[in-house]
Amino acid sequence: MNIIELIQRDSKNEDFLSRLLSVLSERLGLQCSPLGSVRIELSILPPMLLLPVLLQVAALHCVLGVVVLTALPGLVLWYYYMTHRKKRRTLFFLSLALFSLAYMYYLFITEIVPRGDVSYQQVVTATTGMILMLISLVRTKQGPGYVQADNRHNNITSTNQSKLCNQDSACCNGVSQSDHAVENKRKWCSICRLVRPSRAGHCRICGVCVLRMDHHCVWINCCVGQDNHRHFLLTLLLFLLTSLYGISMVLRSVCPRQSVFTALLYCPGVYNQYSTALCFTCVWYSCIITGGLLHLLILQIINISCNVTEREVQLALRNGTGRRRFCGLLVETSTPSHGFMHNWTHFLTMHTAEGAQAPLTLTDVV
Ligand SMILES: [Zn+2]
Ligand SMILES: [Zn+2]
Repeated sequence: MNIIELIQRDSKNEDFLSRLLSVLSERLGLQCSPLGSVRIELSILPPMLLLPVLLQVAALHCVLGVVVLTALPGLVLWYYYMTHRKKRRTLFFLSLALFSLAYMYYLFITEIVPRGDVSYQQVVTATTGMILMLISLVRTKQGPGYVQADNRHNNITSTNQSKLCNQDSACCNGVSQSDHAVENKRKWCSICRLVRPSRAGHCRICGVCVLRMDHHCVWINCCVGQDNHRHFLLTLLLFLLTSLYGISMVLRSVCPRQSVFTALLYCPGVYNQYSTALCFTCVWYSCIITGGLLHLLILQIINISCNVTEREVQLALRNGTGRRRFCGLLVETSTPSHGFMHNWTHFLTMHTAEGAQAPLTLTDVV
């Protein structure tokens, strides 16, 4: 397809950017042949090109800083809803997350460390936090645990699934056949053609059924499920701790006369030097990301404490059976809770599917 034709035909299409990037990728032949099926997606490039430029523009003046730091999250959220609605996989968000991390660390090493305000131990601590977080991210990317096709129920086809209850009459004690039929229909995935265990769900972005599915996370371009939920939580926690530590060190360096909290809102003279202005802008950028991820971590902790997954929360809200409490932070669902301690014990010790710890390949990383 010609690129001009695509622009003319799809100029009003919401998915224009994704398709344009896809056609450009084909035209430029960005197929990484030595790595087999690994394909370089152009969606990883905008964050790499735009982020440093936008942050450097934002550092020129405080008004520009406000404009850029307001528009940037807005643009990212807009692109998120656009791709999420179309159920597309994209490396844009993973690229943005990793490149933001790399750029913040680069500025820390090149702008803050030479100022002599941070000790060797502090640099080692921040670097260790980064490395641990990246290791945890790679473990998260090893996979959420997929429903296997050789499940003992999977000789059942879509045409005879309605007969499931009759075939297994022992399970029908006290429950009507229609109830079982409804239950079996709910567990049957017509796309993967298998019967899911309870709490498993089909991800329409990845196109697979995931064990104890929580949600599809665009930031890691991967589902979060039974096998990687703990590492996902650990990654979030390590990121937040490292980020808060880094933010406090940078603020103490560029605004030594103020306390950390005051410096974030009022730091006189920070725009007098471009170097300090850039660091201050990056601190605000990091605060926005940290705030978003802190909100996600709080929701995750509440969900786990109540023994619900994000998928169950969303299903309950969609079906009108869920009830929001505490400003929407808690959603009551029909999933039974076994108490705070038991729910966390179950979460921390839940079974990992066989074969989940397969050797990591390059495609797992992206
Ligand atoms: Zn499925
Ligand atoms: Zn997914």
